[in-house]
Formats: sequence, C-alpha cells, structure tokens
Amino acid sequence: MTQIINRSIFDLLKVGIGPSSSHTLAPMKMALDFRKHLIQKNIIFDEIELILKGSFGFTGESHMTPNALIAGLVGLDPVLSPIKKIKSATKDLLDEGILNIGLNYIKVLNRDFIKFSRNFKDLKHPNTCQFIAYLNGQKIVDCSYLSPGGGVILLESDFELQTEDTSLNKSSFSEILIYCKENKISLLELIYAQEESLTGVSRVEIIRNLEKIWYVMESAIKNSLKEEGILEGGLKLERRAKKSLTRLSSNTDKWRKLAPGMGLAGIYALAVSEENASGGRIITAPTCGASGLVPGVLYMLKDSFNLTNRDMSDALAIASLVGNIVVDRASISGAEVGCQGEVGVACSMGAALCTFLSGGSDIQIEMSAESALEHYLGLTCDPIKGLVQIPCIERNAVGAGTAINTSYLIMSSDEKHLISFDSCVDTMMRTGKDMSYKYKETSEGGLAETYC
Ligand code: SF4
Repeated sequence: MTQIINRSIFDLLKVGIGPSSSHTLAPMKMALDFRKHLIQKNIIFDEIELILKGSFGFTGESHMTPNALIAGLVGLDPVLSPIKKIKSATKDLLDEGILNIGLNYIKVLNRDFIKFSRNFKDLKHPNTCQFIAYLNGQKIVDCSYLSPGGGVILLESDFELQTEDTSLNKSSFSEILIYCKENKISLLELIYAQEESLTGVSRVEIIRNLEKIWYVMESAIKNSLKEEGILEGGLKLERRAKKSLTRLSSNTDKWRKLAPGMGLAGIYALAVSEENASGGRIITAPTCGASGLVPGVLYMLKDSFNLTNRDMSDALAIASLVGNIVVDRASISGAEVGCQGEVGVACSMGAALCTFLSGGSDIQIEMSAESALEHYLGLTCDPIKGLVQIPCIERNAVGAGTAINTSYLIMSSDEKHLISFDSCVDTMMRTGKDMSYKYKETSEGGLAETYC
C-alpha cells in the first residue's frame, strides 16, 4: 500500500502534562533527553546552564517551563511519573540542594542556572532551548532543542535536515479522499491500514492504544469535575466546570432546553482545560492549550449517541488525521501561527469526528474539518500574563459548541464546497507567517497587552 499518511496517530495524540505542550511538555522531554544523553555517554561536568529563547523567553515563566525543565533533569517522565512529583520538582530539588545526573552531583542553591533570552534573531524556531554542560569553565556539551508544537521535540540539527528534505510529500486530504475512492476503501479503514504499515503495530494494538488515550481524556474530565477553587497564576480565575454542570443539570436552568448537547460539550471542554491549566495530565489534541475541545465533544456524544469504546477509538483516529495533516502542511504551534493552529485545529478535529459519528460521508468529514478551521483564520495567541487561562480555557469551551454546530451545518448540506481543507490549512500558514510576533505566544499583544 502506498504510504500517503506520513505521521502516526500517536505522534499527535499523546499523554501530556499541562499547561502547554510546546512550553511545558516539550521542555520536560528535552531535559529528560539531555539527562539520558549525559548518563549514556558517562559525561563528567560540574556546571549546567539552560537558556530559554524566543517565545520561551517571553512566556516560559508563566507556562511553568522552568519547573518542567527541572522535572526532566531529575528524571521525571511526563507519562509515568506522579503529577504531584512533577508539580513539586523545583521545590524538591532546591530542598535537596543537589542535582544528580549519572556520576555527577551538582550543588544547586537556586534556579539561576535557567536563563531567559527574548531574542528571536538567528533562531531556527521561535521555541528554542539551549542546554550546556561545563567542566572547569569549558563547554563539554552544547546542544539546542526545538519545540515545533504539540509536545514534539527536535534537535536543532535534525530540524534543519527535516526542513531541507523536499523528497517528503506533504499530506493532502484531497489526495487521501481520491485514493479512498479509487481503491474503494473508507477513510477510517485507510487510517488504520496506514498506521499499521507506518508503525508495524497490529490493528488490535492500535485500537487498544486509542482506548488508553480515551481513558486519559475521560479521567481528565472526571477528575476536573470534582475540583473547585482558584487556578494558580495570579489571575484569580475560578474553576467553573463543576459549578456549570450542576447548574445545567438543575431543572430550573433555561439553557437545558436551549442547547443541552452544546452546553454539555462546552462544560466538559472547560473541565479538561481547567485540568490542563492546573498542570494536570491530559492528551494533546492537538496541543495542551487546546486539549479540552475534542474530549469535550466526544464525552457529550458518548452519552447522547450511546457510543461503544470502539466508536471512541474510531472517532479519535479520524480526528488525528485532521491534526496530522495540519502538522505536515503547516503548524500547530501558537508561537508559529497563533491560536488558529491550536484551538482552530482542535475545532477542526472536533467537527470532523462529530460528522463521522453522525454517519457523515468521508467527503462531509473533510468539509467539516475545513469549515471549522475557516472560522478561526487569523486567531491570535495572546494569553494574559502568559498563563494558559484567558482566553484559552473559554476558547476550548466555546470551540466545542462551534465544532458541533459546524458538523450539523455540513450534515445538512450537499457534498460540494469551494474551499478544500488543504487550501484552508495553507491559508492558515500564510496568515500565521504574516502575523506580528506580538500575537504568537509572546503575551506582548492583544488581550495580554490590554490587561497589562
Ligand atoms: S491563546 Fe490559544 S495558542 Fe495561545 S496559549 Fe492559549 S490556547 Fe494556546
């Protein structure tokens, strides 16, 4: 079978820790990778320096990037380690006063070994972190990692090779649909077959792994719906998911009659986004900042449509294709294209899975993904104080409703449309390139500027 989907479902849907895939999850993975390298090569050093550059330099502090770096440096894993230990990584290290990596025991009195640079000049990517190990004042190891979005990490040298490699064809939803038609295969069947040939993992295992992804999504909703109180960070933002659900469930609430499905999906999206903002464990869909929308829509549909575990896995497989095409053709990084690449793409994924579960055709799935993204073109990333709270949390909740609404409109239309998903994604990328740096995860413009 020709490989026309270049990325795995699980490259996109990953277990992550909040609040940001690019600024929290990826830096933790970078530090863990750096630590492994030092240990594997038996490198002896007496000093360490980490420099957060570009967008990291602007919003790293509020995205909890330094704590994520320290968590990775001390060997904590974003998937396996207890969330409590990850959250207290900095405090624990400073209490201990010693950083142990392999044969090295470095005295650590404060966090000053992590530095910030707001300079974008000469950076290969706006999210860059340089890791340096010294011995007697001389650099022993000096490498830079990039965070291109969704929790993915790349060594700077690999990024250069990847961008220079023009032999790889960019994924195209239009070509995928033509392939399905010519080979008389459904979109879902193609996604699974391509995943099998790309990864060598059996169908049974792929579906089991998707069930695990859903389990983490569902747990995030259930855990968050037990929580109340104020989110950390200084904005005094109240957690509202639990309260909103109680209100919607009461017989006196008028909204119950107006839009119960959209209301519920929004509340579940709110729950995951609040869990993410508090540094909890979520799934990147496609990113941590936009992690609430897809599970919000899916959890509501699960009850409304009486869905099985297999339905949930299939819906997530469909959503992953949408996100992966964007990663391949454009970007899901707020620092590169603004929030159109995060909540905009999440809405696209949510609308596509909604249409799939409603019995829509493969063409209608593509149309839903396109239509949802179309209405987010130009959306900036301007989180107040750099926290993934305002506008991020509500954006997920409102986006869940938009995804359902979009799907409903597409299900009521014929299978003709003027703009393809591929064109819309390319437009998003061009728009992102034209956007001032102020609106790309720097907290220098938009709402962030107004609040300051
Ligand atoms: S505004 Fe959007 S892109 Fe920016 S941090 Fe929030 S969710 Fe992410």
